[in-house]
Amino acid sequence: MAPELDMTELPDRLRDVRSRIVAAAQRAGRAPETVRLIAVSKRKPASAIRAAYELGVRDFGENYVQELSSKREQLEDLHDIRWHLIGHLQSKKARQVAPIVHAVHTMDSAKLVHELSRRAHAVGRQIEAFVEVNLAEEPQKAGATPGQLPALVEVLTEAPSLRLVGLMAIPPAAETGDALRSRFRQLRDLAAEQSPPLSRLSMGMSADFEVAIEEGATEVRVGTGIFGARTNPEAAAG
Ligand SMILES: *Cc1c(COP(=O)(O)O)cnc(C)c1O
Repeated sequence: MAPELDMTELPDRLRDVRSRIVAAAQRAGRAPETVRLIAVSKRKPASAIRAAYELGVRDFGENYVQELSSKREQLEDLHDIRWHLIGHLQSKKARQVAPIVHAVHTMDSAKLVHELSRRAHAVGRQIEAFVEVNLAEEPQKAGATPGQLPALVEVLTEAPSLRLVGLMAIPPAAETGDALRSRFRQLRDLAAEQSPPLSRLSMGMSADFEVAIEEGATEVRVGTGIFGARTNPEAAAG
C-alpha cells in the first residue's frame, strides 16, 4: 500500500513549477501559454491527482495502462481531465486506452498506429499523437530512430482517428549542460524537417524542463517537481 501522501507541499511545488515555466518561456521570447504542463502522476495515488486538479491542473501523464485505467475510474467525476499516456504502449493494449486518453506520446510503430486508430475510430474518438524518438539511438530505449521517422510520420498522417501533433523524446540520462540542450534542439530540428512540419514538442522533465522550454518544448512532463519523490517504485507499476 502506498503511504498516505503528504499533500501540504503540493501548492508550493506547483506554484514554483508554474513560475519557472513562465520565466523560461519569457527568457526564450515565447508566450507562456504555449507551454502545457503535464503533471506526471505515476505511482502517486488518485488523491494526489485530485488535489492537483483542485489547483487547476487538467493534464495528467501516466506510464502504465493498468494504472491509468484504475485512476481514471476513481476520478470519473472529474470530467475535463486530459489523460496523457507517456509510457510505452503495446498494440494489444490499444483497445483499453482508446476510450480514455487525450494523447499518446509514445507512438513508435506502424502497427501501433493502425491498431490505435482503428480502436479510436470504433469509439468515435480522435486521439492526439506524438511520435517518440530515440534521439541517440540507445539500444535499450523505445522510440523510432531519426531515420525511421519520415515513414512513421507518413503512416500517422494517414491514420483517420489519430491527429499527429508532434514529437516526444527522453534524452540520454547521462547528458547535461550543452549536450542536453543540443539534444532538445535535435528534436526541434527533426520536427521542423518532417513533411508536414510538426509544431509540438513533448520534452523536458523535472530536472530539465526549463532548458527544454528555452529550446521550444510545448509540453513538459513534470512528476517529482510537483508530487515529490516516488518512494515506492514497485507499488503501482502494473
Ligand atoms: C516519469 C516520467 C516523467 C516525469 O519524470 P520526473 O523526473 O519525475 O519529472 C516524464 N516523462 C516520462 C516519459 C516519464 O516516464
